[in-house]
Amino acid sequence: MDENNTVSRRKFVGGVAAAAGVMGLMPTRNLFAQTARMTPRDLEIARDTLDEYDSYAKISFNENPYGPPDSVLKAMTKAFKYANRYGYPDGGITEAIAKLHGVSPDNILLSAGSGEMLDVIGTTFTQGNRKVIGVSPSYMQVYEHVTSVRAEAITLPLTADYRQPIPDLIKAAKQHYRDLGFIYLCNPNNPTGRIVTKGEVRDLLDGIPADVPVLIDEAYHHFVDNSDYATSVPYVLEGRSVIVTRTFSKIAALAGMRLGYAIARKDIIQQMRPYSMGSISAVVKWGGVAALADTESQARVKKVTIDLRQQTIGYLKGLGYESIPSDTNFFMVHLKKPVVPVIEAFRKKGILVGRPFPPMTEHLRVSIGNPEEMQRFQVAFKEIMGAASVGGSNNGR
Ligand code: PLP
Repeated sequence: MDENNTVSRRKFVGGVAAAAGVMGLMPTRNLFAQTARMTPRDLEIARDTLDEYDSYAKISFNENPYGPPDSVLKAMTKAFKYANRYGYPDGGITEAIAKLHGVSPDNILLSAGSGEMLDVIGTTFTQGNRKVIGVSPSYMQVYEHVTSVRAEAITLPLTADYRQPIPDLIKAAKQHYRDLGFIYLCNPNNPTGRIVTKGEVRDLLDGIPADVPVLIDEAYHHFVDNSDYATSVPYVLEGRSVIVTRTFSKIAALAGMRLGYAIARKDIIQQMRPYSMGSISAVVKWGGVAALADTESQARVKKVTIDLRQQTIGYLKGLGYESIPSDTNFFMVHLKKPVVPVIEAFRKKGILVGRPFPPMTEHLRVSIGNPEEMQRFQVAFKEIMGAASVGGSNNGR
């Protein structure tokens, strides 16, 4: 393992300068500055009026642009009558999630968004300065949290085709076994949109010592349409040291309402529970129950999202720009030039696109908005980028 791929709290340095890194050459230690927790506030939007905020095409945070369906809005509206209560009926949210996955409620822990759960897992499993191992770029909040609390993150580069290098992860896990806290696998991965195949997940779990916890972040599970992919929940049922996280922020359109959860063995959930806040509102608990029941709405969102994604990727290809194949509600397009000024150019046109994900400094992450937003994106892309020149730079892999 190259020391350069180790990030400690001491070395945790911010700075957009990191965005200038070149993949393969750039040490990962400076890369966590592109915080996964950026909110519109961080992006200067706080200085804009609400009308300006509303006017943006918001294709930067992998949100569901359609909002919660009527069934969920109705359930949440009804739940407002509990706004003044602590001991309110919660609609049976934990039981509903357990039933969905065929596990017991003891296997479920709720959180205010899955991001909170990622922090809980980081805090729980890095006691005694244990390390986390994963890839970069990925959902960097995991590394950002553990390095800001106490521990080290060891991040491995993606493969040439932007996939997660499972044999390398196994090797690193064995090498650092003595002080390894947990492994992080984002499946599908954010920001690349690529899956880890079901065979690769099995290889990983079979290839590492059985007691190493593996956090498998399935935030984008609901958008996957790929027979090589499978959820890792069955590994929990098998009794493995696997923790699967899910969120209601993406397909269920409840990002602003904050609800997520972990599925794991009962003893693992008990280990994590003391670190969880449990600060989840009555309203979103009822909304979550209704969302789980409304599979029709989710199927509609999935279909329209995939259709728009493929149409947009096709349009960009027509202009000469290749995109990384995606199984999520976002994708990355190779610009063949630095992404930072392009992000700013989009912003000037009222379009918020993804932040930089070093070391992929020539890739732009585009979330799939609604049809009108994607139309605005396509028009703006052509104006900003024009048709691609043949060849171009090749450092954006
Ligand atoms: N995991 C991944 C891979 C994400 O992309 C996100 C948000 O974008 C999260 C977790 C956290 O989302 P939330 O806290 O809204 O559940």
